[in-house]
Amino acid sequence: MNSTMQDAPLSITELFRHGAQVFPDSEIITFEGEQARHTSYAKVAERVNRLAGALRTLGIVPGDRVGTLCWNHQEHIEAYFAIPSMGAVLHTLNLRLPPPQLAQIINHAEDRVVIVDDSLTPLLASVIDQCPSIENVIVVGSGEVSGLGEPLAYETLLAAESPTFAWPEIDERSAASMCYTTGTTGDPKGVAYSHRSVYLHSFAVWATFHLDDRGRLLIIVPMFHVNAWGTPYAGWLVGSDLLLPGRFLQPQGLCDFIRQERPTFTGGVPTILTALLNHVQANGGDVSSIKTAVCGGSAVPATLITAYRDVLGIELWQAWGMTETSPIAAIAFPPKGTAPEDEMIYRSKTGRVVPGVELRLVDDSGAEIPHDGEAVGEIEVRGPWITASYYNAEAPEKFHDGWLRTGDVGNIDARNYVQITDRSKDVIKSGGEWISSVELETLLVGHPAVAEAAVVGVHDDRWAERPLALLVLKPGASATPDELRDFLAPKVARWWLPERWTFVDELPKTSVGKLDKKLIRAEYGREKFSVIELEHAKR
Ligand code: ADP
Repeated sequence: MNSTMQDAPLSITELFRHGAQVFPDSEIITFEGEQARHTSYAKVAERVNRLAGALRTLGIVPGDRVGTLCWNHQEHIEAYFAIPSMGAVLHTLNLRLPPPQLAQIINHAEDRVVIVDDSLTPLLASVIDQCPSIENVIVVGSGEVSGLGEPLAYETLLAAESPTFAWPEIDERSAASMCYTTGTTGDPKGVAYSHRSVYLHSFAVWATFHLDDRGRLLIIVPMFHVNAWGTPYAGWLVGSDLLLPGRFLQPQGLCDFIRQERPTFTGGVPTILTALLNHVQANGGDVSSIKTAVCGGSAVPATLITAYRDVLGIELWQAWGMTETSPIAAIAFPPKGTAPEDEMIYRSKTGRVVPGVELRLVDDSGAEIPHDGEAVGEIEVRGPWITASYYNAEAPEKFHDGWLRTGDVGNIDARNYVQITDRSKDVIKSGGEWISSVELETLLVGHPAVAEAAVVGVHDDRWAERPLALLVLKPGASATPDELRDFLAPKVARWWLPERWTFVDELPKTSVGKLDKKLIRAEYGREKFSVIELEHAKR
């Protein structure tokens, strides 16, 4: 039997229309260092129409890719709506990529137009000769432009267009936007989100993050990475004020912006939220307007969650996801009825699966293993906002009978709480037994002297692999490997305790601020670190 329901396509155009009509007075605020630039949804909506007109004048037609090389700001929001709603594909470019990789993904996506911040024109200029698909460059901002000849000016283009645009009908399964993985564990691969997937994911983010039009959402996660976790779309859908820090992502800039504009909600990777906490502890700063922050992208130490609660009065919610999952797949809320003293057991887990996403755990042979909170395997996911392939790239090893293989290894309990212990490429197998590098890292940063920690597996003649711990100590702090082993000893199995230690000034990070373990292992191989080996601790 057919249903009697109307068949309205699920599209970004609809998200856009709703926010613009229902919340014309909600604000879009861009930080510019000292001052913030304020505007309303109504004004932005008009400019979205003008931008679509400008791109059509430049010959952009449905299906064409339009790149953005931009920080988080008002014009990037405009691109987020105009490009997909006109049927073209928004391709957010990661401005921290090394130039050869940037050129590689522009060429792979065949971007015809790139919208670029004035401050980022030197980066685009360094690759443009290698990117024959780019026909036009549009520069945002009136600052100096270098090396791009006579590019088009964003404001001039918008001024020449009509404030209305005839939005085409959209096939909800067509591509709306694309993002390349950061290549932490391999070459970057393109994920193309559909209108339908962005629409459904926006509803999930709205509900999961409890967003509404009383909230002021500070978007720290870069808009070039996984649509800033979907927060611009979800926030706009329900009329939250959107606070955009521009390029002022250092703790001092964020603190100034927070003090002036008083956001209520934010999110970020652990490295950024740790830096913010350390800054407030060292220098003071009023971040009291923020009640909640989502943290994910890599494991969130329990000590960070408790410090946010106790020092800043902010509830930190750990979430899990990846470029391929749009990204929201799980969030760590304690189950109903949890006693206050037990809350941290759940808050420090990786997360509980969100509605719309299905999880399963498989062993090395691909057979399903139980969700009992103990059996360890690779996590596989499926659902309407999980990718089923990569754009123009074969990767059969990443898919399994219609499920995405996440490459994350861990356990799942009976209620579908996930605990990730490692990425499959980072697992440490010592004498045939697993050691969780993620658990050692999150414990080590709980030591008062430790600012950052990384643990990688390195060759060992006897055990095949043993953990090497790399540490960055807090300024002025000191700790010896033996002290750190004593600190870990009551918390983990004895054979997990590393006997190889090294102290460094900083840890190599990827373009989105995650530990670059591939590089750490390579540098260890090239003997770049001076490693302390505790002979007395060797087993
Ligand atoms: P990349 O391009 O490096 O894959 P992503 O942002 O897509 O970049 O990274 C996704 C990965 O980040 C996940 O597969 C997982 O390994 C890690 N990750 C994300 N959130 C968490 C979390 N809460 N705990 C542990 N790891 C996480």
